[in-house]
Amino acid sequence: MEGIGQKKETDYIFDKTIKCDVCGKEFKTKQVRTGKARFIGTDDILKPLYEGIDTCKYDIIMCPHCGYAASLRLFGHHTEKQRQAVRDNVSSRFTAKEPETETYSYERAVKRCKMAMLTEMVTGGKISESAYLCLKLAWIYRGEIQEAKANGAAQERISMYEKYEKEYLEDAYRGFKQARETEYPPIAGMDENTITYLLTSIGIHCGKIDEARRYGSALLISRTASMKLKNKTRDVLETIKKN
Ligand SMILES: [Zn+2]
Repeated sequence: MEGIGQKKETDYIFDKTIKCDVCGKEFKTKQVRTGKARFIGTDDILKPLYEGIDTCKYDIIMCPHCGYAASLRLFGHHTEKQRQAVRDNVSSRFTAKEPETETYSYERAVKRCKMAMLTEMVTGGKISESAYLCLKLAWIYRGEIQEAKANGAAQERISMYEKYEKEYLEDAYRGFKQARETEYPPIAGMDENTITYLLTSIGIHCGKIDEARRYGSALLISRTASMKLKNKTRDVLETIKKN
């Protein structure tokens, strides 16, 4: 139940019209109103947290006509060769029509993110971009777990989402680790210290304790890492001692 004066999720989003450069058709996508939602901070795996809305559900733009999907940062920035690869490998088989809804559910957000993974795969994107999509999926499942718990969902369902979250974190970990060794920053739009932080935090979630400690220690003595990031690193390293 919404209280008086309390904002609804629909107050934070709007329909944006976009022209798809893969199929040439126009479509509407839901976007978060920047400046309207209050940013609270990020959690231990850098999921952005906002008051009143889980913006992670709206991270992916997907053309409902041809299935071309990507994050806001990458949508519309593919080369003609890559666009043709989407036409050949995705659009020809794409049939999933989405119903009109006021907001995106977590289930729908998962589907959109998986379509972005498909675009990433057929266009031969960087490892870091695939890893980032895996991280986004983990963020979405985190939100879904929270929602399921608040709605009193069955434990089996919550456990299933937790299993998916962990699996995508493991994929993200492998991808970011490889990207850190083979790509030059910015890596998926992030600097090297942020990637190292993610490897520390995600590493702990995946049980890679020794590796996580090494990444974390390197960050703590880094001259370029911010105090804020170092504090966050200390916080996640603390969780190892407790376990
Ligand atoms: Zn399209």
